[in-house]
Amino acid sequence: MPRPSTFDFRLGLIGYPLGHSLSPKIHLAALKSCGLDGDYSLFPIHPDDKQGLKDLLERVRAGELQGLNVTIPHKQNVIPLLDELTPTARSIGAVNTIYLRENKLIGENTDAPGFLSDLNRFIGNRDASRGVGKSALVLGAGGAARAVVYALLDDGWNINVVARRLEQAQQLASSFNNYQLPITTFSDLQPSREAFNLLVNTTPIGMTPNTGQSPLPENLSLPDNAFIYDLVYNPRETKLVKDARAQGLNATTGLGMLIEQAALAFEIWTGHNPPRKVLWNTFET
Ligand code: NAP
Repeated sequence: MPRPSTFDFRLGLIGYPLGHSLSPKIHLAALKSCGLDGDYSLFPIHPDDKQGLKDLLERVRAGELQGLNVTIPHKQNVIPLLDELTPTARSIGAVNTIYLRENKLIGENTDAPGFLSDLNRFIGNRDASRGVGKSALVLGAGGAARAVVYALLDDGWNINVVARRLEQAQQLASSFNNYQLPITTFSDLQPSREAFNLLVNTTPIGMTPNTGQSPLPENLSLPDNAFIYDLVYNPRETKLVKDARAQGLNATTGLGMLIEQAALAFEIWTGHNPPRKVLWNTFET
């Protein structure tokens, strides 16, 4: 149920550090485009400040804040402080959105549906299953990788995960033990065995200020039919995306996912679905 338009929404983001967050820009545009009053604050909470995290969640419970996003390093730290997780957040093992329902603090994860929605926008009606069926190679096995793997499995993709540390990839695979999830390390990757038509980078490699770096392993070349999705959104064109486009491939960075996960959280908190065009436009001006 949408709240009355006179309501003053107090929203925000928990993480550390938060200096360069784009979330306020997206949520302030969402509030304005839906004709709502409110603000979106940054709450930088140091990873060791357990009490600070607890106190902030109590402000949601008290109705002082209507919603919080959560980012690194708190996506897992908040879980023991919540009353319930949605099935999506439970399967992924990470929370990026917190809200109060019937006096219960609920943890949701909108990264997974946000990624899938933007992936579908990106692939559109081009055939993503040419050649090798729906086969994805996911680079990285951290928090974002868990959301991406959850979304891709849900959408019927076969997935290979490549990680720097085998034990992290094993942990990820064991969370999805209803599926066969082949894993390997960057150093053991055997490109001849890895047929794929979607590459998803979930590592921070290539992010500002390291814009000259690409996560693509040196011995891996991109197939002619591959779609490239880089979760990094700063810069707008990463080296991975630039190189793939130079090869004539369809490639995108992760701004669309950032916008989608924000819009889905916003709808949970306010009951209003913000127009995506307005949210995209905030980055064009
Ligand atoms: P995370 O939990 O720290 O995971 C990062 C992963 O990348 C880990 O597996 C890490 O391995 C690996 N990695 C880091 N540096 C590496 C390197 N030099 N070589 C190989 N692997 C490396 O972080 P996250 O939350 O998943 O976020 C990852 C990236 O996704 C960030 O750039 C973030 O901004 C982006 N992201 C974008 C969106 C979006 O909406 N577009 C949403 C979420 C995240 P180790 O554990 O061994 O370091």
